[in-house]
Amino acid sequence: MNQPPPRHQNLVYPSGLSPEELAALLSGEPAYRANQAFAWFSRGATSFESMTNMPQSLRERLSGRFGGSIRSSSVEHSLVDEDGSLKLQIRLRDGAAVECVLLEDIEGRKTACLSSQVGCPMGCAFCKTGTLGFLRNLGPDEIVEQFHHLRDMRGFISNVVFMGMGEPLLNLDNVRKAIAILANPDGIGMSLRKITISTSGIVPGILDLARVGPVVRLAVSLTSANPELRTRLMPVNKTWPLAELKAALLEYQRATHDRVTLEMVLIGNVNARGENALELAEWIRPLRVQVNLIAWNPIAGMPFETPDAGQMKQFSEILERSGIVTVQRMSRGRGVMGACGQLGDTLRAKQ
Ligand code: SF4
Repeated sequence: MNQPPPRHQNLVYPSGLSPEELAALLSGEPAYRANQAFAWFSRGATSFESMTNMPQSLRERLSGRFGGSIRSSSVEHSLVDEDGSLKLQIRLRDGAAVECVLLEDIEGRKTACLSSQVGCPMGCAFCKTGTLGFLRNLGPDEIVEQFHHLRDMRGFISNVVFMGMGEPLLNLDNVRKAIAILANPDGIGMSLRKITISTSGIVPGILDLARVGPVVRLAVSLTSANPELRTRLMPVNKTWPLAELKAALLEYQRATHDRVTLEMVLIGNVNARGENALELAEWIRPLRVQVNLIAWNPIAGMPFETPDAGQMKQFSEILERSGIVTVQRMSRGRGVMGACGQLGDTLRAKQ
């Protein structure tokens, strides 16, 4: 696995700055000016001119610092699926691009699925993003701006999941900064319970999250409880095998008293058989989990198939008979290639 290279440019744009960083930037100004600026930036202001409770001279000073642009990224393309899902392709200031998605469910929840890296180094066999390779980590500004771009187009957002492009636990510092900004009550004020980090199983990151927080919801893309099969589908299993992953999840549950979600992308006739479900039920004990079953979403050129409804039902029933809370997730965003594992179809490999 490659280590992420340093960020392309070091300047962090306003939406990625904490109140303390803004206070340092505005040194010499009264303290409340930094709070005012934070409120504007973290709520998604689109221009310095709109910050009308701040003096013109200060707005000009800030504008000059960031070359007149309040955001570091822009929406290049947007696509709307017939189920209402919105996928955005975001162009970053170094020319790279990422995608993010707004998913609406039948209960009215609006969930922003955000990317944490440009590409992904994890190489999961069933995921489009994994075929793109890895370019770099996203900064906190680039993460928060995805939220703002989606919010500009769809209004109130109720939930955030770090389940877009990239492995969030390999960019934990910047993901933490972005979460702190989104959860700050002087800004968007999103509850930490409405934020989910989804990992492929980065054990040091899970332990770090257990020790340091924030206590958001944790989801793990497990895919298989069989060591050989999991290594074939998710190479991360070579570095952090199932036993180490389980030990880390037990530690996480001890520290947070929280139930972990196991994401199971089920691929027809690969990991969706009854024997796979039995093996999973055995592996789970004594973890307290919810298992989300997600039918693999078709991706051109990949040698997999979507499981049929009978396979999904059988898998679910085996887990439920073992007393495991199991939810079959409806696939949303498939029509715009914005569903789980499909992000990156419009992006070039190794941008
Ligand atoms: S499933 Fe997640 S971790 Fe795996 S390659 Fe895709 S984006 Fe990366």
